[in-house]
Amino acid sequence: MKTQTSVFQHFQKFNTEERCIAHFETIRWPKGLRCPRCNGERISKFQAQGKTGKERHLYECMDCSYQYSVTTGTIFHDSHVSLTKWFLAIYLICSSKKGISAKALQGHLELGSYKTAWYMAHRIRIAMRDDDALLQKLSGVCEVDETYIGGKRSGRRGRGAANKVPVVAIKERTSGKVRMQAIENVSGSVLANFIREHAASGAEIHTDEFPSYVWLDSSEFAHRSVNHQETYVGPGNVHTNGCENIWSLFKRGIIGVFHKVSEKYLPLYLNEFAFRFNNRDEFSPMDKVLSECF
Ligand SMILES: [Zn+2]
Repeated sequence: MKTQTSVFQHFQKFNTEERCIAHFETIRWPKGLRCPRCNGERISKFQAQGKTGKERHLYECMDCSYQYSVTTGTIFHDSHVSLTKWFLAIYLICSSKKGISAKALQGHLELGSYKTAWYMAHRIRIAMRDDDALLQKLSGVCEVDETYIGGKRSGRRGRGAANKVPVVAIKERTSGKVRMQAIENVSGSVLANFIREHAASGAEIHTDEFPSYVWLDSSEFAHRSVNHQETYVGPGNVHTNGCENIWSLFKRGIIGVFHKVSEKYLPLYLNEFAFRFNNRDEFSPMDKVLSECF
């Protein structure tokens, strides 16, 4: 069941700079204010007029005299956009199923330029990392599948792979957790590296009958494959339908929202997509993003 905050709830909570600052303080310094320079704990708060006449909320360290704000050293630093808009941008990016284009973001937030919107989305995307992915391997039944993104037509292996980037995904059946990665090619050794990085030994890997998965039969993993010429779900509930669904959602996002993603940015879009997918039932994915912003 979806329990995510609604836009209305979000904006009731984060409708002033003061409220956003107070919230970000608790995420940045959960044990109380700290000096980013000397880690001192004796901090005084004060307000001053910025260059543009805007009220600035500042801190001063009583130990080393360093003056800073809640955004110093974060992705929001040096931005003329208010935290209320940044927070709303993060909320919108996390809650739109297929992602949101910079153009749409510019409209929703009434931003002065497309460039600003693009820059914000880009910075937020970098912060959409899943710490889980670094710590814990997936286990039990895991589906693995690859596809091609980009070029004239995204699609399965086959002719005309020029200008297309192969991408591989693994999905843990019980939790629904997903990891995705752009890869150099779809050879057995490249796929083996990916699977070994993300799946715990002993996991039962479900694939189709692509030859690059044959090595799995004599590996530390259990391997079941489904012959897609014959059926989509083999005996024993062997299938890769979870991955198929991810590809279709991702491609609709790429086609409908982002139009064209250059190879350079594809890994970031994959991260964004996996993050959103893996946190779709979180009450506040925004807080997870905020905790990666500094
Ligand atoms: Zn200090």
